[in-house]
Amino acid sequence: MPNIFLRRESNVRSYCRRFSKEFFSASGATLTDTSGNTYIDFLAGCSSLNYGHNDPDMKAALISYIQSDGIAHGLDLHTAAKLEFLTCLEKNILTRRTLDHKVMFTGPTGTNAVEAALKIARKATGRTNVIAFTNAFHGVTVGAVAATGNRLHRNGANYPLSGVTRIPFDGYVEGVNSAALLRRMLQDKASGVDAPAAILLEIVQAEGGLNVASKKWLNDIAAVSQDFGALLIIDDIQCGCGRAGTFFSFEGTGIIPDIVTMAKSISGFGLPMALLMVRPQYDVLAPAEHNGTFRGNTHAFVTAKIAIEKFWSCTAFEKTIELKSRILHNGLQKIETIVPNSRLKGLSMIQGIDVGSAKLADEIVHSAFQQGLIIETSGPEDQVVKVLAPLTIEENLLLQGLDILLYATEQAMKSQDPSPKNKIHRDSISDNCSSTSSFSTSQTSLNKNTGEFP
Ligand code: PLP
Repeated sequence: MPNIFLRRESNVRSYCRRFSKEFFSASGATLTDTSGNTYIDFLAGCSSLNYGHNDPDMKAALISYIQSDGIAHGLDLHTAAKLEFLTCLEKNILTRRTLDHKVMFTGPTGTNAVEAALKIARKATGRTNVIAFTNAFHGVTVGAVAATGNRLHRNGANYPLSGVTRIPFDGYVEGVNSAALLRRMLQDKASGVDAPAAILLEIVQAEGGLNVASKKWLNDIAAVSQDFGALLIIDDIQCGCGRAGTFFSFEGTGIIPDIVTMAKSISGFGLPMALLMVRPQYDVLAPAEHNGTFRGNTHAFVTAKIAIEKFWSCTAFEKTIELKSRILHNGLQKIETIVPNSRLKGLSMIQGIDVGSAKLADEIVHSAFQQGLIIETSGPEDQVVKVLAPLTIEENLLLQGLDILLYATEQAMKSQDPSPKNKIHRDSISDNCSSTSSFSTSQTSLNKNTGEFP
């Protein structure tokens, strides 16, 4: 590894510590390093690459746009690329779901979209307090990190984090309906909880460890927000764009948010882009009140339009997500059987396994990387091994990745307890899950050039 990274890149770097290779190219659900080793990608840019790396149609449209001298940087000017994106979004996403929300382009990161959403809610209601939940993750700028639960990120602000009341997420305390608790606290003039401008939440807490909100709890929360005049903000930055099975993660729950934040996979191609959707009556920010030089990433508009046309103009893509999520679930169930007290978490294409300890999760992820699989952890202790494969991953690659994960889990278990009693007998996932898999065992190297483990 060239030591310029150690010498010059800030200590704050993170993913590159775990996956300490120099990556060169990527296609679909695989990445290749400069030595020619190929890796299956179960991280997908932390859900920024739901449609895989370098989708050929998005790539072609972007190349053609650049070649024709299309506007590269347009502030928030009306551009042809923005017009086409908005038209496509309105037709294929908003109108079909009878959403009359307005679209606000924010700075190109998820955290900036959350900042903007909080500003809107505070301005629209004239209140400052925001209800956020245990284990929530909303970004690391000061306003968003105040709503984030994780101590590492909160401490990183080195600044008083205020304006947020923390309430237990669904299922956080067994037998407690925290929506009912919140209602009671807001009714009680002496509870110490100020009337909220907003209730901010993720449908599936992704960084928080794949905690899924139930439909009933969500509807209870939506009723609280309505009854107490708070805006309901759904942060769909990680779970949107199909990750939870439908374009928006809240589809099928019966709730309609006042504001939805989106980033990560909205550009389709992994380009920086973020936006929020807000009910027209809450579109209250004055021109430039939430400003930013990069609020219209024109290249991202080009690819985002193709992504929506290609994957969301009919329901076929949703069906393939459902099929793959079943394969994923079956594969993870096999892994669950070999890790005592482990637990499957998440839903659809954001599932994982809580292995109960950060050490074991870390060893699994490390071992998986040795076998050619890129996968990360989440959860308060980083104890959840989280699969974020591209939604477009081929079935055989998904199975191969799951085989590697199974093998890596076995290796990690053995290294924790190397005694012979800890010998595990199992079939590979691809042997049982699908007749179409052309890959065999988890020990299969992915190195196309050398046939060795990367
Ligand atoms: N909200 C959620 C739910 C996220 O998962 C993330 C990032 O992981 C963010 C907000 C912040 O997005 P960004 O890293 O683009 O600022």
